[in-house]
Amino acid sequence: MQILLNNCGAVDPGSLEDYLAHGGFEVFQKALAMSRPAIIEEVKASKIQGRGGAGFPTGIKWEAVYKEQADQKYVICNADESEIGTFKDRKLMEEDPFRLIETMLIAGYAVGATKGFVYIRGEYPLSIARITHAIKKSQAQGFLGENILGSGFSFDIEVRRGAGAYICGEETALMESIEGKRGEPRNKPPFPVTHGLFGKPTVINNVETFYNILPILRHGGAWYASLGVPGSTGHKLFSISGHVNRPGVYEVPFGVTLRTLLEDYAGGIKNGKQLQAVMVGGAAASYVTPDQLDVPLDYASYRNIGCTLGSGAIIVFDETVDMWEVTRRFAKFFKHESCGKCVPCRIGCDRQYTLVERIARGERQEGDYELLLEISQVMKDASICGLGQTASSPVLSAIKLFADQR
Ligand code: NAD
Ligand code: SF4
Repeated sequence: MQILLNNCGAVDPGSLEDYLAHGGFEVFQKALAMSRPAIIEEVKASKIQGRGGAGFPTGIKWEAVYKEQADQKYVICNADESEIGTFKDRKLMEEDPFRLIETMLIAGYAVGATKGFVYIRGEYPLSIARITHAIKKSQAQGFLGENILGSGFSFDIEVRRGAGAYICGEETALMESIEGKRGEPRNKPPFPVTHGLFGKPTVINNVETFYNILPILRHGGAWYASLGVPGSTGHKLFSISGHVNRPGVYEVPFGVTLRTLLEDYAGGIKNGKQLQAVMVGGAAASYVTPDQLDVPLDYASYRNIGCTLGSGAIIVFDETVDMWEVTRRFAKFFKHESCGKCVPCRIGCDRQYTLVERIARGERQEGDYELLLEISQVMKDASICGLGQTASSPVLSAIKLFADQR
């Protein structure tokens, strides 16, 4: 059963008529007939957690914005999908773009917002084109704009494109960027639910999170909560790349194992090679090893083994890969993408790269590992945002797992 990718490949992404023929905007019309608290209760009952990577409960977020008194509220879709190895949101936007409009409308109606933004990474030209087209078609047919379908509810959406900065996927840097400023994270709290875009209460959710809203409202929050496992309800998209026979985006209920995903869905390791390690969750994660393949893919089980599901990125490395070279590339990525606002991350990412590069070159010096551990602690303790707080995870993981390779 597919509840997220069900329209992908089945619906013409350029045709509002085809979307409507496949049940498009039915759930929005159902939502219009519900009270705002009732919609939020269904989202809370589903127990859905945000799919951008952090897993914050979506219903709590919506409720907090609904309860704020403000002259203006906003809904933002974070489509700046920049996490290494993550390409699920791209598939949704390219193949089922009208669904994003429908779910943002529902969010806007539920929390009392009248304006939405979709912030799409600049490297996704087809997503930008398809979402822009879907907005224009929806405006022309009265699904966006003033007094939508005669309901008295008004809502419109604008697309903003990123310009290549990874940090602009961090929600407050993204808001700064929309506001026309340099994309740098703000201190949190306050959180966007109270002080978001232009200082107003703002719902900001990842693309995949929004796409889950349709099955939740169509079938009910309790039905959705019965999918997956307790603590990680519903379905999750995983982007699988690297040394597998069938890379791609796969939809599964939480709780399946990495072994099932890699063997049954992705067709196993390429060229009959042995698996060495898997990067699950993105660049700021620890490596998963072959003895952990049977750990269920859910938030708690992954936390228990010191890993994270993050955005659902899965990068597979076979036995031939030099894992210190992989780690060097991750360290280089963070050094490049650190926005420079705070010292621990700006200097820490730079020092970390220098040391990892030396180790990867085979010239490790006495005390390098110890120094990396110290730098990591400072970055974790004192960086402003998630980038600096987690940029040392793959390095620590490499020291733990692959020290014998250098
Ligand atoms: P976070 O835990 O600070 O926040 C997660 C969400 O919950 C945010 O929207 C935040 O505003 C909200 N929130 C948290 N506490 C709250 C509270 N008390 N009240 C109201 N709202 C609250 O995490 P983050 O820094 O936003 O995101 C980090 C994650 O982003 C990482 O897990 C990483 O995997 C992921 N990430 C994803 C991508 C991608 O392309 N999808 C890219 C980079 C990072
Ligand atoms: Fe910028 Fe890094 Fe500080 Fe985040 S932790 S604000 S990316 S310098």
